[in-house]
Amino acid sequence: MTPHPGPAARIDLHTHSTASDGTLTPAELVRAAADAGLDVLAITDHDTTAGWAPAVAALPPGLTLIRGAEISCRWYGTEPAVALHLLAYLFDPDHPELVAELARMRAGREVRGERIVELLRADGVEVSWPEILAGAAGGTVGRPHIAQALIRAGLVTTTVEAFGSAWLGERYRLPKEDLDVFRAVRLVRAAGGVPVLAHPRASRRGPIVPDGLIVELAAAGLAGLEADHEDHSPAERAHVRALAAELGLFVTGSSDFHGTHKTVRLGAFTTAVEVYERILAEAGGVTPVAST
Ligand code: AMP
Ligand code: FE
Ligand code: FE
Ligand code: ZN
Repeated sequence: MTPHPGPAARIDLHTHSTASDGTLTPAELVRAAADAGLDVLAITDHDTTAGWAPAVAALPPGLTLIRGAEISCRWYGTEPAVALHLLAYLFDPDHPELVAELARMRAGREVRGERIVELLRADGVEVSWPEILAGAAGGTVGRPHIAQALIRAGLVTTTVEAFGSAWLGERYRLPKEDLDVFRAVRLVRAAGGVPVLAHPRASRRGPIVPDGLIVELAAAGLAGLEADHEDHSPAERAHVRALAAELGLFVTGSSDFHGTHKTVRLGAFTTAVEVYERILAEAGGVTPVAST
């Protein structure tokens, strides 16, 4: 049976656990979501579905889980290529091509993380790659794990500072082995999933893609745009909404919760029930899960 929440349901469709760069385990994440009064939670770790099973196993009564991921993508239409994030909901986690691409990206992240550490060490910064990898505890490794090492070493005091231009934001920033965004949209659809572009106007993270690219992605199968996100100003949210309306895409709102790696709280931004129903109607990979 597919759960259908009531009209006042609180729906948060973008969160991270220790399966990537969040600080709560998948089990802790679903419990925290129930405690925060959410009715629907999507777990969307970077480039992995490893958090799905432990989240399902710990699902508290009253909470519906949407299984998803946030896929690291790149648009090669400009030089240098622009990094972007594609949220994917309810796709088949065994789709062979998608499985292979996610594994390739996770492996690439380890190579890139070690190279960043080499650059830091060459400048006399005492951070240890084995320690950083251990900090990721088998989850998808990313710059937030390196940021924690910089904090432990007393070089910066916050994750935000670690992402400044003197550190991981620019000086020690290296590209990842990302997936071409058009291929990602098609693969997610082929796996029965619903692709949504995450924080498309979050310019403070780096260069963003032009609206024309979003028009092309919509034609390639993109289903929605994340409008309400802490990295969007009110004007940027309004712009995303207008673009979505023009293209027939739906809009979502989500916290992008990362535990203590960010300050945003679960449910800080939410998605309308009608949009949730539309995601369910378009999905054909896996179903939402509710504990019985
Ligand atoms: P990576 O996936 O290794 O490129 O690292 C990107 C991740 O770092 C994002 O998913 C966020 O979790 C985090 N991040 C990016 N920018 C910032 C920032 N300015 N402050 C804190 N965390 C950030
Ligand atoms: Fe992240
Ligand atoms: Fe993201
Ligand atoms: Zn995210």
